[in-house]
Amino acid sequence: MKKVLPVLALGPIMAISLQAAENKDFNYHVDRFADIEVLRYEVPGFNDLSLNQKKMLYYLSQAAQAGRDIIWDQNCRYNLQLRHLLEQIYTGFQGDRNSADWKAFDQYMKQVWFGNGIHHHYSNDKFTPGFSPEFFEAQVALLPDSALPLADGQDRPAFMEIMKKVIFDPAFLPKKVNQDGSQDVIVNSATNLYAPGVTQQEVEDYYAALKDPNDPTPISYGLNSRIAKDADGKIYEEVYHVAGLYGPAIAKIIYWLDMAKSVAENDAQREYITKLIDFYITGDLRTFDEYSILWAEDTKSDIDFVNGFLESYGDPLGMTASWEAYVNFKNPEASARTEAISGNAQWFEDHSPINPAFRKPEVKGVSAKVITASYLGGDAFPSTAIGINLPNANWIRAAHGSKSVTLENITEAYALASIGNGFNEEFVIDAPTSKLLDDWLYITDMLHTDLHECLGHASGRLNPGVDPDALKENGATLEEARADLFALYYLPDAKLQEIGVLENPDAYKAEYYKYMLNGLMTQLNRIELGKDVEEAHMRNRQLIAKWILEHGKKDKVVELVKKNGKTYVKINDYKKMRDLVGQLLAEIQRIKSEGDYKAGNDLVQKYAVKVDPKLHKEVLDRYATLDIPPYRGFVNPVYHTVTDPDGEIIDVTLDYTESYPDQMLRLSRENSNL
Ligand code: ZN
Repeated sequence: MKKVLPVLALGPIMAISLQAAENKDFNYHVDRFADIEVLRYEVPGFNDLSLNQKKMLYYLSQAAQAGRDIIWDQNCRYNLQLRHLLEQIYTGFQGDRNSADWKAFDQYMKQVWFGNGIHHHYSNDKFTPGFSPEFFEAQVALLPDSALPLADGQDRPAFMEIMKKVIFDPAFLPKKVNQDGSQDVIVNSATNLYAPGVTQQEVEDYYAALKDPNDPTPISYGLNSRIAKDADGKIYEEVYHVAGLYGPAIAKIIYWLDMAKSVAENDAQREYITKLIDFYITGDLRTFDEYSILWAEDTKSDIDFVNGFLESYGDPLGMTASWEAYVNFKNPEASARTEAISGNAQWFEDHSPINPAFRKPEVKGVSAKVITASYLGGDAFPSTAIGINLPNANWIRAAHGSKSVTLENITEAYALASIGNGFNEEFVIDAPTSKLLDDWLYITDMLHTDLHECLGHASGRLNPGVDPDALKENGATLEEARADLFALYYLPDAKLQEIGVLENPDAYKAEYYKYMLNGLMTQLNRIELGKDVEEAHMRNRQLIAKWILEHGKKDKVVELVKKNGKTYVKINDYKKMRDLVGQLLAEIQRIKSEGDYKAGNDLVQKYAVKVDPKLHKEVLDRYATLDIPPYRGFVNPVYHTVTDPDGEIIDVTLDYTESYPDQMLRLSRENSNL
């Protein structure tokens, strides 16, 4: 369960000027196209690690690359074929690189790389190509049959017909994940987690028959499988494992995990890697739970990673997980902050403004640390989260706790790459508020992430017998709202001064202001005019912001005001806003604890989905004057091994110079495993 950085467009930030000075020679900017900017991140501290630790990070980076094709295929069943074809054209192009068609093709190629397929990573909409079908056909005509990634039994005309549909037909597979509950969300989603022809009803019936509501340790059904239909119309699972679906990629992952295990830091780490390999071999979800427990309980190792099927945002039903990988090591200085928070987890739980019956009597080991990301893979690349909290299974979180990490060097890269971008001047209501953000947004945003991940997701409990999936397609939105509200509620609390993580008791106002500005206005920059809000984190933010705006109306807690024809967020009463945060948290916790689908759906439909078209257009127009990319992601550093004459690795170094296309093409060359 993760939090993506809300507004990737922070103004100048004084709170990080020290690090900024330290990093002033580092060039964060790599590429810019469509609505995307590609950055690079630095891995401070890498050179100070031991040789074994560097080797382990190298092996894990290889494991994180090896599964790249899995996420491409999960996202849509034509993605891999299309990528091979586009890359052939891209690398072999001999024509005029100043032509409009080539420029549009270049942009489309970069978008497809960024989306790990033909759909936008965030809006889920299919990309619209700017080049002509004639240009495309002429380019493909130059390729020999042997260069075409034809499927078994597929000839060139059949291949071309489907590829043209995939690229140019806006009605064909228009949306990767469709969460419009008034339709069949599976039939109307392009995701390849379900075979064509499978319906939502069939999937729900299939899993309902498997689920045992009285199992105290319920399996995460569907987490690692694709649902297909046999010749008799019977539903079955194609399980992801070394001898099953995605076997060749999984075999490579296992190879590199095995190498990592050979240089593991300690027994606990070796044990969970062994269990993860077991899981990749068998696909057995009980083994996955055992792995998850071992992983959550390893809080001693410096190096940490996840590699596998973990988060299910890519599934309209929230069951099957996308393949992803994060490799990282601990940042001990910054971890003092999250350790102070997680060390007081029970206090926060006991003082949460929810019905006491829904509080956890005993919060189990919420471990939290700040880490330095050293490699991103699968669904976490190029677009990444800034915090991760796993495992996701409620019963494991309750019985064994969870591990929460904040990716500090990623957050820092976002912030440092944003300095001086004009955002505050355009959208923030006045100079004192701008100064508030400059002074306090960086630290309060970090704390918001910490509280969201370490405590928010881990707080509260379900009533006995309530199905954890009872909120269905709104589950992710409401869960993110719950975690955000928990964090917002505690940011103004004097407890933060008491435990020494935030010096200024008024600093929270920076995060409150940004949250309302983002939820009511600026996140709309990520949506095309005329479209609704779709993505769970964005829905959650709009839900909270609009609910507070409406419920604070009579006391004028927050207002949208006009100045020189432009709309601004004005917060008149921060204290009352906190009360409203607490009220909404209580209601959403009740909805979750009781599994009240209807109340949850009403909230989502009323506040989270619809957009005021006039305000939306204004936001887009004002953003357009700034040229701030709505989305950002990263290239990874390139790992180079230094070997002695016997081929033994004697050092590992990181190279930060690779371009975005070079990195993408190299990954395809090295890891076309499916
Ligand atoms: Zn979250």
